[in-house]
Amino acid sequence: MITQLPTPGFSFELLATLGHARAGILHTPRGAIETPVFMPVGTAGTVKAMTADELRAPPIDAKIILGNTYHLYLRPGLEVMELAGGLHRFAAWDRPILTDSGGFQVFSLSGINQKDDDGVTFQSHIDGSKHRLTPEVSMNIQRVLGSDIAMCFDECPPGDADQAIHDRALARTTAWAKRCRESPRATGQALFGIVQGGVDTGKRLAHAEAITSLDFDGHALGGLAVGEDIAETYRILDEVAHQLPADKPRYLMGVGTPADLERGIAAGIDMFDCVMPTRNARNGYLFSSSEPHRPSAALPAGGKPRPSSGRVNIANAANRTDLGPIDRACPCWTCATHSRAYLRHLYVAKEILYARLATLHNLTFYARHVRAIRDRILADGRRV
Ligand SMILES: [Zn+2]
Repeated sequence: MITQLPTPGFSFELLATLGHARAGILHTPRGAIETPVFMPVGTAGTVKAMTADELRAPPIDAKIILGNTYHLYLRPGLEVMELAGGLHRFAAWDRPILTDSGGFQVFSLSGINQKDDDGVTFQSHIDGSKHRLTPEVSMNIQRVLGSDIAMCFDECPPGDADQAIHDRALARTTAWAKRCRESPRATGQALFGIVQGGVDTGKRLAHAEAITSLDFDGHALGGLAVGEDIAETYRILDEVAHQLPADKPRYLMGVGTPADLERGIAAGIDMFDCVMPTRNARNGYLFSSSEPHRPSAALPAGGKPRPSSGRVNIANAANRTDLGPIDRACPCWTCATHSRAYLRHLYVAKEILYARLATLHNLTFYARHVRAIRDRILADGRRV
């Protein structure tokens, strides 16, 4: 079943469902994205330590990556982006890019921020300079970046914020979504709306109704895994994700562990992003199916085995003399070529090659993890 999305050149093809889980293809002018998909995060125009070729090549074979409006606006800035002709040309990445709106970073990273109904004034975390982001400014930055999927500018309150703050954020996010929708976009640039509402199911569903009525190309759940208990995150996922329109892609922003991804897919999510595989890699944490793990019960039993989510702390003394790979089942170059002992040595000696080898492995793990779940939905699910 193929649905044309509002932006020309974009369509969403649903192939199979297994419970609420879905396997599909998001077609874009820059290529097809098989869903569920994990999108590596390229905050500052680079997925840290990886070249574009490494991301494109199997086994990572990333079909889409993220760019970050807040970071790219502050550095290198719009003048450079305009001169370069957008982020694709600047970063030599010819596949789709999704840009976030900058909202999350303004609220979480920047210095003093003053919110009002029109937008947010904030201080750069780099040099303290003052800037203002409004829905129109965010959309203009994303237009210049030329991303394939832009995100609406939203207000994401902390998980423990009180109800009055949540209610005001919801009203603003809806008003801002309408303003984003009216703003000029780059040719072939889709726009996703963001559903907020914290861990209150009623507020989430009411906000989902407001946002989905605006006819975006896709819908995101924002403001999850921002400090609340993970059980609350899962409850909201279970209660809300499958209620978002079935004929458009659903995106869970900024989440999470391999188990979180499996849980999100089971709840009906199609797209994920998170800095976890890249950041954990640099900090010495490597995912491995060779490690003991607890299998997730998120999807119905049966089907092919998949990479699990055991974790190796490469700094552990036990790895000093371990000449085996990080993950015996992993097809990545790091695992085919190097031992845990070598990686531990590079990590302890602070050699820059460590970050490259570790990131290559963790991104491979995430890509295989999500593809294995997708294969299982296709094999065991109901064809649509
Ligand atoms: Zn590997």
